[in-house]
Amino acid sequence: MHSVLPALLLATAQAVPFTLDRLELDLRVDHENERVEGTARLVVRNVSDTPAADVPVLLNRLMVVTGAGGLPFSQQVLTFEDDSRLRVDAVTIRLPEPIAPGASRTVALAYGGHIASYEETGRLYVKDRVSEDYTIVREDAYSFPVLGVPSLARDRSIRRDGFTFDAQVTVARGFAVAAGGFAGRAESATGTTYRFSSRDKVPFLNLCIARFRTLAGKGFTVSYLPGDEAEARKIGLRTEEALALLTKWFGPPPQAPDLALVEIPSGWGSQADRISGIILTADSFHDPTRLYELYHELAHLWNPPDLDRPSPRWNEGLSMWLQQVIAENLEGLNASSERAVAGVLDSPDERLKSVPFASYGTQGMTDASYGVGRLYFLVLERVVGRDAKAAAKTLGDSSGWMAQSAMVRDYRALKVGRRRRTVLCSTSWGEKALNPDSVSRYRRRGSP
Ligand SMILES: [Zn+2]
Repeated sequence: MHSVLPALLLATAQAVPFTLDRLELDLRVDHENERVEGTARLVVRNVSDTPAADVPVLLNRLMVVTGAGGLPFSQQVLTFEDDSRLRVDAVTIRLPEPIAPGASRTVALAYGGHIASYEETGRLYVKDRVSEDYTIVREDAYSFPVLGVPSLARDRSIRRDGFTFDAQVTVARGFAVAAGGFAGRAESATGTTYRFSSRDKVPFLNLCIARFRTLAGKGFTVSYLPGDEAEARKIGLRTEEALALLTKWFGPPPQAPDLALVEIPSGWGSQADRISGIILTADSFHDPTRLYELYHELAHLWNPPDLDRPSPRWNEGLSMWLQQVIAENLEGLNASSERAVAGVLDSPDERLKSVPFASYGTQGMTDASYGVGRLYFLVLERVVGRDAKAAAKTLGDSSGWMAQSAMVRDYRALKVGRRRRTVLCSTSWGEKALNPDSVSRYRRRGSP
């Protein structure tokens, strides 16, 4: 512990009154010692209605903060109060004077250390570490300071409006850094510094470090691991085709894609954002039947801003549904939705029968949003027909359909005839818990 102010630890008993508006990182990857060191500057804004002076952040349990720009801070490795497997370095920075409601302030932290993975917490994809084979710096392993306290329940209420970023990462020669928002690179005596930045807000930032090769396509680049060139070309081709298909259905994406597609090791979890880029597991590179991960992530690029806080993540259900529709279109795969439906209906998770989809965010059930969300879209497809265009147009025309309750309203407004509307409402569209009986009725009518 450094500069300990025991009273500050009490701050963890309160909710987090801040949101992150901007993240600036200046990091160096030290492969030899398996460490990441540098500085993080967080622009935080007080979104509560009372002044707040203590800024709580979480860091990987094998990292430490060595300075806070002269401000007093406390840090202690703690176990989450509601997850005994999750341990983090819980840091609290005390500001000289409280930040008024609505006001912002920059907090600068010098920090560094190793990256411990978090597989044991059930987040199986967080296999992160500092290694010459592959290194990823992301929020999921708290590899940079993340606003929060050691409580899943209280962290869920943190307002996340997205943040702008400016990140630079220095690596030894022979290594490359891949991420969205590429803004240049510079050679120096100590290695190569890559810079990434965005003036638009992003939901996450993944900085990947490996011996990448790069392939440039129309509106995108693919950063792939040595030896995977043929696979990267296939990914590039399918990306072009899928983007064309989505554009045909939904119209052009909200903004022209300048996509960074980055290969990550198998099982490390794919993720997509137009600006932050798409990290895509090696599985999708090597196994054509797993290209659905790519389609899933590309479909996310058409997501309107999600205004639900915390979000039940309808967008995951939509991507689950679209990944199959795209695969059928591009590869002639005609995967049955039966298994997906059965997976939800036969789920041992009893909460699915009592908690409405709309509350999945507040109830911490978004792991189920993928399967149950897909089920809702399969039902929609059954109602408005297989014509993806019709379904897509209905969704695409109603901008903000993923806004709070708007989706439910928009479905109600679907011009699908009274019988079909009754059917739609009988499955509640997220306002009531899943009704297995009504879903079973669709099931008996055959595949969509
Ligand atoms: Zn997704």
